[in-house]
Amino acid sequence: MEESGLRTILFYKFVEIENPEKFVKKHLKLCQELLLLGRVLVSEEGINGSVSGTNAKIEKYKLNLKSDKRFSDIVFKEDRVIEIPFTKMKVKLRPEIVTFGKKVDLKNTGKYLPPEKLKKMYEGGEEFVILDARNDYEYKVGRFKNAIHLDIKNFRDFPEALRKIENLKDKKIVTYCTGGIRCEKATAYMKENGFKEVMQIKDGIINYGKTFPDTYWEGKCFVFDKRLISKLNSDDKPISNCEVCSKPSDLTRNCRNVNCDKLLVECLDCQKELNGCCSKECLIEFRVQSMEKALRKQGRRVPA
Ligand SMILES: [Zn+2]
Ligand SMILES: [Zn+2]
Repeated sequence: MEESGLRTILFYKFVEIENPEKFVKKHLKLCQELLLLGRVLVSEEGINGSVSGTNAKIEKYKLNLKSDKRFSDIVFKEDRVIEIPFTKMKVKLRPEIVTFGKKVDLKNTGKYLPPEKLKKMYEGGEEFVILDARNDYEYKVGRFKNAIHLDIKNFRDFPEALRKIENLKDKKIVTYCTGGIRCEKATAYMKENGFKEVMQIKDGIINYGKTFPDTYWEGKCFVFDKRLISKLNSDDKPISNCEVCSKPSDLTRNCRNVNCDKLLVECLDCQKELNGCCSKECLIEFRVQSMEKALRKQGRRVPA
């Protein structure tokens, strides 16, 4: 990889961090010194982040993190990018590094399933349930073949929604998410709640897609930065449809009407026509909002 190229890395590690406040300050300084952009969440339970920068700076960042004993075995999932998909560098202190809302025993998580094993299971026609642990909008633009999902808007809703598949407690279940972090908590919770045989794909979709593109992953992978989707297969065909006109599309965006803010699949034509809103109604509301903003900028009172 050439020095000047840009890279985005994704990583997490559940490990006890004493005095996370202090860690946050020090870590932010490190990221700023390396001119990185991105988002890192820190809590007493560990670290979870995604940062972007030049190849050289990212290498330095990785070495720095790995030199800390607590993170010596951390796995970085890497992607080359043409532009930095973040606008800020944030290091934040959180109660959890991925919000689940339920205490789980992270020493009792689902067994890791390497990509090779999953591929073999598909090829051998083995009977298993593949469960998408992500949110509904992520599932929409890409998923594993035959995957089921819980139709949740937020990972926090996973425990409650798990009731929908109580009938699968005796089945062999493989869970997956983008980089693996959500599955750590999801599988631990499932085991605690009577699911007998639970496995999680090691390092998530990204790891599988890198190892075996064009096999059992269908569509693209939603990512939580400006890119919104990351391509995993050579085939570019979307598996989802524009929610406005129903044409095939995998472009996702939030409706520009701030009162709506709905995350939807919307093709470029519709995005242009509706100015980034999800419907004509929202477009009207958005225009009013823009007008009010313009008036406020000029220091004028907005008519009630
Ligand atoms: Zn459309
Ligand atoms: Zn809307």
